[in-house]
Amino acid sequence: MASPLQARVLGAGPTGALTALALTEAGWRVSLHDPLTAEQLSQRNRAYAFSYSSRRLLERLGLWSEMESELVPFRRLELRDCGAGVGLAFSAADRGRRPAIPASASITPNDAIGWIGQHGPIQHRLLQRLTDDPAAELHLGAGFAAASDPLIVPELVVAADGPDSPTRSRLGLGQWSMAYGQACLTVQVELRGCADDEAWELLRPEGPFAVLPLGEGRFQLVWSAPQARCRQLESLPDVAFLDALAGALPEKLQPDALLDRPRAFPVALQLARRLHRGGTVLVGESGHRCHPVGGQGLNLCWRDVEVLHRLARRVAAGRLEPARLGGAYARRRWIDLMLTLAATDLLVRLFSNRHPLLLPLRRLGVRSLARFGALRRLALGAMSDGPCPAMRRAPE
Ligand SMILES: Cc1cc2nc3c(=O)[nH]c(=O)nc-3n(C[C@H](O)[C@H](O)[C@H](O)COP(=O)(O)OP(=O)(O)OC[C@H]3O[C@@H](n4cnc5c(N)ncnc54)[C@H](O)[C@@H]3O)c2cc1C
Repeated sequence: MASPLQARVLGAGPTGALTALALTEAGWRVSLHDPLTAEQLSQRNRAYAFSYSSRRLLERLGLWSEMESELVPFRRLELRDCGAGVGLAFSAADRGRRPAIPASASITPNDAIGWIGQHGPIQHRLLQRLTDDPAAELHLGAGFAAASDPLIVPELVVAADGPDSPTRSRLGLGQWSMAYGQACLTVQVELRGCADDEAWELLRPEGPFAVLPLGEGRFQLVWSAPQARCRQLESLPDVAFLDALAGALPEKLQPDALLDRPRAFPVALQLARRLHRGGTVLVGESGHRCHPVGGQGLNLCWRDVEVLHRLARRVAAGRLEPARLGGAYARRRWIDLMLTLAATDLLVRLFSNRHPLLLPLRRLGVRSLARFGALRRLALGAMSDGPCPAMRRAPE
């Protein structure tokens, strides 16, 4: 009997952990390495917006039914161009019929546009699944660099080691990088005036601002603003921060209490010059990073995993040479990456200002979206399934 295909995954964040699960599902043996312990990996205080592209992958890996209980669905998305004073609301009806919904099903008002999930429980669940998986070996914390059997040379090395990827540097893959003048402040708050199944994307002149429901009146805020302003907001006492927040939100949304301390992180557009070298591939933020507007970041990372999963299955079935996997992966990822990075960049550039020549154009764009259902379906489809129609096909 042929020995099983071996993969080494470097980085056990949400992308690396899901990659390891996808590879074992495809019939590979996997070792997963991270200098952080399981506890440290789960401790990050953040929340992600999940789209239908992420749901599709979780379903394929048999993880959706257990993950769904950790996620808060939102059924309405309020989009406001605060500089131009126009807005509209997306609802489930604007999703149209997509592959994640069986062809016979009709759209109901209860369908979600997307889901919000907190990092801790999701990361914990992924690592727990891997601990229970006989085809996976975890090397977390102090012994992360140890190889289970130094004589085994894996057919595939997956670098999911984050935006500062040591693997990308070691392989000399290089990257294009552009820092935004903005940073991003995340904080959890109690809010009045916002339904528990409603999310907001406010396109403010200082930067995009997302309000994401966590359930029971709690919301995660993702507030982009110039870096100096973020640093100043981060240092404010709670009461002063709540005042500043009330000034930034529409009148309808009233912040009542802070549930954690605001934390700023840098935002940048990054894209590796190559996504593979030999048997090593870059997956997740080691390969690309975008502005958090529209909640695309982790969904884009997980679409890398979706493609790698399909290819790993083909290798396991003998339909693709292991040596060709890296090149095939890189070729299949470029279009989605370029389109998503370009779209998020365009949104930031177009809306983070009060430029008098742009305001009429923006008004026209937002009013057209509000008026024409086909345009709303196109925009929401690109946001929730990825901008590249080929990604939406299910076949192996
Ligand atoms: C402070 C902060 C707050 C954020 N808040 C939000 C938010 O609220 N909402 C949101 O959607 N996104 C947020 N993001 C972005 C989000 O965290 C990323 O999109 C997501 O973590 C990307 O996942 P990843 O697995 O690709 O990379 P990472 O999560 O960065 O994981 C990389 C892993 O690689 C490990 N590693 C590093 N070096 C090595 C090595 N040599 N060998 C093996 N492993 C290694 C690291 O320890 C880490 O665990 C935030 C980012 C930051 C920095």
